[in-house]
Amino acid sequence: MAISPSIMTTYGRIDIAFTHGKGSFLFSEDGNRFLDYASGIAVNAFGHCHPKLVEALTEQANKLWHTSNLYRIPEQEVVAEKLVANSCAERVFFCNSGAEATEGAVKVARRYAWANGEKDRTEILCATGAFHGRTLAMLAANDRPLFREGFGPSAQGFTHVEWGNIESLKKLIGRHVAAILVEPVQGEGGARKAPDGYLKLLKDIALENGSLLISDEVQIGMGRSGTLFAYQQEEIEPDIIALAKGLGGGFPVGAVMAKAEVGDAMVPGTHGSTFGGNPLAMRSANAVLDLLLEDGFLQSLRDTIRYFDNKMDELILNDKNNFSVIVRKKGSGMLRGFELNENYTAADFGNIAREKGLLLVGAAENTIRLLPPLNTSKEEINMAFELLNQVILEIKKK
Ligand SMILES: *Cc1c(COP(=O)(O)O)cnc(C)c1O
Repeated sequence: MAISPSIMTTYGRIDIAFTHGKGSFLFSEDGNRFLDYASGIAVNAFGHCHPKLVEALTEQANKLWHTSNLYRIPEQEVVAEKLVANSCAERVFFCNSGAEATEGAVKVARRYAWANGEKDRTEILCATGAFHGRTLAMLAANDRPLFREGFGPSAQGFTHVEWGNIESLKKLIGRHVAAILVEPVQGEGGARKAPDGYLKLLKDIALENGSLLISDEVQIGMGRSGTLFAYQQEEIEPDIIALAKGLGGGFPVGAVMAKAEVGDAMVPGTHGSTFGGNPLAMRSANAVLDLLLEDGFLQSLRDTIRYFDNKMDELILNDKNNFSVIVRKKGSGMLRGFELNENYTAADFGNIAREKGLLLVGAAENTIRLLPPLNTSKEEINMAFELLNQVILEIKKK
């Protein structure tokens, strides 16, 4: 059946609808089962209908859904304190999406400079390949000229430097730069991990220049890197962190986290959100955090990541035995990808995988992205790589 014309055509949708999900699996209307290694684009951090999330949300649904940020929201205070206790941040603002989190982060950075009397410090340095969301301001932060087409004048104050290139950054940094905005691992940009030590260098340069470092962890944060936050692997402290996707495990919620001095530039009236951090969203985020922080979880996740990484190497080795489809493995943690030979497209690869019951997501650089739930089992990983092997054999025949 064709999709309803009442839906605005912003997506070229795949003609499948799902009726339910359980763990790492989704079930479609026509009765097929799929191993979901797309996770709603890194959102379903604990798969579908995790009992702890269902329990938290249904309990809250029977009690109280929404009040307003005009009042205290105790559930928000619980989540904020957990985020603060487990990160370098000291202040948290809750919103509803990734774009709101990154844009909120930019507002905080600019406001902090302004509050310090530096009225001209407004510039945000972004990286090539960056993706930070779809609001008008974030369109200027993205390195996607096509996304800006037809949407009028761009927001001012965003400049792009070459991803991973410190020298080009040094040339552009100056007293006018409020912050460097960067994804420790680019998701949409093609599952690209920053070179080792890159974040540390960015932080040093920012510090020296009086600028802030914003870590956009909307996709890689909340455990997907193997640590709770990706920046923790570089032993640095960003001034601001943007979160969303995995934070609610499927419930829409985002957060801007900041160091105390920076966050305190936001005084009453400077920012707001009607829905941000409502009790339902907070109970979801709280349940996700509890699962991530459960004794031994992150450790076992790192084992799973190593296992997954070995499977990636194995697949490449197998592929090389005849004619390679895969150019190289990419990404980090549970945000991984395979860059494909130019003779094959990520879209074709994804379509064949789906026909075989495996859901993946495309990304830039002809990359097919793998975003498994963080609690996926070794059996499921084996199954995924068995299917990937079949996809490679089949795509070669085309
Ligand atoms: C998805 C994403 C965003 C935007 O999130 P939305 O919830 O779609 O607004 C921002 N930054 C990164 C790194 C993302 O992956």
